[in-house]
Amino acid sequence: MGKLFLNIIWIVLLTVITQIGGVVYIIATLCYRKKTLKKWSAFIILYLLCTFGIVPYIAPLFGREKIKTNETVKIHTLFTSLANRNYVVPEVNEVLTHVSDKLTKKYPEVEIHCLDANFPFFNGFPLLPHLSHKDGKKLDISLVYEDKKGTLVNDKPSVSGYGVFVNPLNGEYDQISVCKTKGYWKYDFPKYLTLGTIHSGLNFSEKGTRTMLQYLTQESSISKIFIEPHLRDRMRISHPKIRYHGCRAVRHDDHIHIQVY
Ligand SMILES: [Zn+2]
Repeated sequence: MGKLFLNIIWIVLLTVITQIGGVVYIIATLCYRKKTLKKWSAFIILYLLCTFGIVPYIAPLFGREKIKTNETVKIHTLFTSLANRNYVVPEVNEVLTHVSDKLTKKYPEVEIHCLDANFPFFNGFPLLPHLSHKDGKKLDISLVYEDKKGTLVNDKPSVSGYGVFVNPLNGEYDQISVCKTKGYWKYDFPKYLTLGTIHSGLNFSEKGTRTMLQYLTQESSISKIFIEPHLRDRMRISHPKIRYHGCRAVRHDDHIHIQVY
């Protein structure tokens, strides 16, 4: 009974984190029911085979494809690709190509770092903790940062890309306090999702992030862009596509959320 419960926990956990992991775990368990080491070895081999050799070829049947990476479009952490969290509809890849082409003409050194996107299969299957990332149309992108001399860099302040916030300055509108005062305690939950902080000398780059946002708003397939109001005001950028996401979401002063029609 205890073993069954443990197996169910693994299936749920692996499904929530990677979508396909639970099914792969079931297959490995059926093959090697009583041999734990063999079971986990089979799981790892089968999982990697599926993730890199099979899923990318089935995902297009569900209208999705991997984020196309190149010299200037990167997946921020290996975990994102390893956990199948890097799938989007083709329109998102077109946006990334257009925006990175324009961005590198102005700032040749700047890369677009992609964070969580969507799973490869099934509309309505959310990529937790992002409830809305369930249809291939959503993608989180890192803000742009600069070093102490003001040079744009591609380093980010956290390992995961989430959870190190660009807090409101004195005198800026503080949406975070507004949401937390209203009882939305989850609003700054991503502070627990950094997986460690790195590159402590980084500053938020207004010019780099503003330029990237401008190019994103110019894309006809983009429907919404979420960023925290104080950063939008600090960068003096306004556009009908740049919206506020509401207190029920999490704060967006550690990343930008984009979605296509
Ligand atoms: Zn998002």
